[in-house]
Amino acid sequence: MAMVEVRNLKKHFPVKRTFIDVLLRKPQLYVKAVDGVSFDIEEGEVLGLVGESGSGKTTTGRLILRLIEATEGIVKIAGKDVYTMSKEELRRFRKEIQIIFQDPLAALNPYMKIGEAIMHPLKIHNIGSSDRERKRMVYKMLERVNLTPPDEFYVRYPKELSGGQRQRVVIARALITRPKFVVADEAVAMLDVSIRSQLLKLMLDLKNEFNITMLFITHDLATTKYICDRIAVMYLGKIVEIGTFHHISENPKHPYTQALISAVPEPDPKKKKQKIIPQGEVPNPINPPSGCRFHPRCHKVMDICSKKEPHFVEVEDGHQVSCFLYE
Ligand code: SF4
Repeated sequence: MAMVEVRNLKKHFPVKRTFIDVLLRKPQLYVKAVDGVSFDIEEGEVLGLVGESGSGKTTTGRLILRLIEATEGIVKIAGKDVYTMSKEELRRFRKEIQIIFQDPLAALNPYMKIGEAIMHPLKIHNIGSSDRERKRMVYKMLERVNLTPPDEFYVRYPKELSGGQRQRVVIARALITRPKFVVADEAVAMLDVSIRSQLLKLMLDLKNEFNITMLFITHDLATTKYICDRIAVMYLGKIVEIGTFHHISENPKHPYTQALISAVPEPDPKKKKQKIIPQGEVPNPINPPSGCRFHPRCHKVMDICSKKEPHFVEVEDGHQVSCFLYE
């Protein structure tokens, strides 16, 4: 059984109507941020969710954790339907599902000491028999994320730490309740390249140690190689290709994935890559293009592409793509 099952997940945000719109009885418009997304994540697996900004990946992560309500769809985590839970059930279940945010400075209370911030979820979920025991657990976690000596870091405030150290605190706080599933939303995007690889290694080590299942959201395909088992590529609210890291990075099938891969810098100067640049801008998600949503920008567009929506086709061992080139 998959640890996470997502079926036909949708989020359509209503566009704010002006007084004139109401007066003229203009129809209600919706931003189709996520528009029918389905995938599974197996226990202990890391699925990378990749796409440009505005593709709907962050909204997908928040919908899965029910931080925002879905318009439609089913999300099951460890066999439990997140959208049929009562508020109380969901509150209790939150210790099993956590999120690591992109901006640690915004995620941490500037007036709360680091130790208190990490202890907070333990108190909320009633983990540990006393503050003394909880403090011991926080010390252990501070050591585990390499914020040592722990007694020194425990009493510091977020502004007294570097960006990398703050993100270690956010990781510690997310993992202190030993969650089964974690959404890492652009978790290393704001860090310098040198610190980024250290943090990715730490996340991978902790994921293996605590047997965490993870959705790793990123706009940067280059970071997925350190941590992701499989990759799902999102474009304008839909997944267009999904497969193992090896399949996607070595043999991308969808023209959009090919363009993303071609933009990843090649470390070996002898290997020359042809850059594929999608034409024009990302279309407006209020009124997405007909047929294949990528057709106005696709370098392999055909007549049929604007008329019909392609189905998902399995091209090799679990590698699926939604494109008429393979139907
Ligand atoms: Fe390009 Fe057509 Fe494939 Fe869409 S369906 S990605 S437009 S070739």
